[in-house]
Amino acid sequence: MKVSHKYPRVDRELCIGCGNCQSCCPAEPNVFEVRFDRESGEDKSCVVAPEACIECELCERECPVQAITLIANPPSF
Ligand code: SF4
Ligand code: SF4
Repeated sequence: MKVSHKYPRVDRELCIGCGNCQSCCPAEPNVFEVRFDRESGEDKSCVVAPEACIECELCERECPVQAITLIANPPSF
């Protein structure tokens, strides 16, 4: 199994809660979950399983507002 070195970060200010990232993500379990955010009163995407990311970059491409960026995991040593 491939060990992931990157995972997605969602800019919650930009996110419009469209769900594209959750729909297109092929990872198992899904990396994203769109949830109601009480602070903003809107649906927002949350990264719920970053370790499952296989770095396919689909989410970055499918986000209509460029809210997703794949970032390197912080060094673990
Ligand atoms: S890069 Fe691919 S596997 Fe990783 S979160 Fe995005 S859509 Fe899912
Ligand atoms: S695709 Fe982009 S705008 Fe849509 S829910 Fe995901 S992060 Fe938010």
